[in-house]
Amino acid sequence: NHGRVINFGAGPSALPLSVLEEAQKGLLNFSGTGIGIAEVSHRSKEFTAFVDQVEKNIRTLLDVPPTHRILLTQGGGTAQFSVVVLNLLARHRLLHPTATPEETTLDYVVTGSWSKKAAEEARRLTAGHATVRTVVDARVYSKDGQSFDNVPPHAEFRFSARPALVHYCENETVDGVEFAHDAQSPAAFPFDRLLETAGAGGGALVPLVADYSSSFLCRPIPRLADHAVIYAGAQKNLGPAGLAILIVREDCIVDVDAAARLGAPPVPLILSYKQLADHGSLYNTPSVFAIYVAGLVLERMKASGGLLYYEAVNKRKAQKLYAVIHEGEQKGLFRRKVQQGSESWMNVVFEVLGEGSENKFLEGAEQEGMKGLKGHRSVGGIRVSLYNAITEPEVDKLIAFMTHFMKESS
Ligand code: PMP
Repeated sequence: NHGRVINFGAGPSALPLSVLEEAQKGLLNFSGTGIGIAEVSHRSKEFTAFVDQVEKNIRTLLDVPPTHRILLTQGGGTAQFSVVVLNLLARHRLLHPTATPEETTLDYVVTGSWSKKAAEEARRLTAGHATVRTVVDARVYSKDGQSFDNVPPHAEFRFSARPALVHYCENETVDGVEFAHDAQSPAAFPFDRLLETAGAGGGALVPLVADYSSSFLCRPIPRLADHAVIYAGAQKNLGPAGLAILIVREDCIVDVDAAARLGAPPVPLILSYKQLADHGSLYNTPSVFAIYVAGLVLERMKASGGLLYYEAVNKRKAQKLYAVIHEGEQKGLFRRKVQQGSESWMNVVFEVLGEGSENKFLEGAEQEGMKGLKGHRSVGGIRVSLYNAITEPEVDKLIAFMTHFMKESS
């Protein structure tokens, strides 16, 4: 296997070996052109056909309705924090040309480090134009009063009457907090009430925005059709860094120059959804290689049985890992960081208790050929990322190591 180890890193993260081997061939000769993928023109008929297929596969896998466009762009999740604000402020200005900065609100659900960052960026960009509001801050409901360890109770979410956007992060990669898929769970998708009353927008559709960077394509997206914008960097479940996927509802694809004439902040053309959409994601040179690898991953996903297959496997992987952490917790060796019900399937975070134990854990795992387990530098601890390319036998190997580690430590 080329001397490869199991990479539990949070991103960039593991890709399927079969895809990497296929990509090696494409680097030399893409689609029979005689030119490698990193060298071929993005306007060649072979590459534009490839891009069309990427879009089709995302549409099929996620069941994206015709009301939404699929766009490929760059800049990762971080760029999308800004891009979504600029485009949806423009939309809001066109809908409500005379709204004051106080009446132009952007609602942020803050359940972890990434949604917090997104809100901070919105505040920077809209100073003087709009008001950024926190719908709910999960730290208030945490065990220690300062950590992101939960999805707060739905009754605590306070939305504005007519927001320009409502933003949430589906899976908090650093903190390991995710909205539950079981609709009965208290940590489930918290926007049903908002969408049902459609209080936002005064007749216009609710501008619900989701950062799906670290849970994109790990399972179906609940109420996808009710979202205004879904964005995701590719470098977790889908491919190399340098590519971001956008799913944008048609009413959010607006003329940003017309909005600027009414007083909205100007939008760089390369960041305009309309510009991207009008040019089929090829307004400028896209991240050709990243799109190529993502395309290979998508083909493989289709062949493996689609998202219901990945959902079933990902659920099993997460459940068995949480079970062994729970066992360690009973023995006083491990401590889960996230409250029951809000635990992520993709990023499992926990602590190894006792002086020097964490390093012993990391070193032991590395000796067994498992890397990328160190928690994010801001929170410490252990983080196991269980993206699609991590197989069930690989999780079993980690669990065997953890069981052994517990025996040695007790
Ligand atoms: N949002 C989430 C949920 C993320 O996990 C990340 C990156 N780990 C980002 C945004 C930022 O993405 P990027 O580094 O691609 O800008």
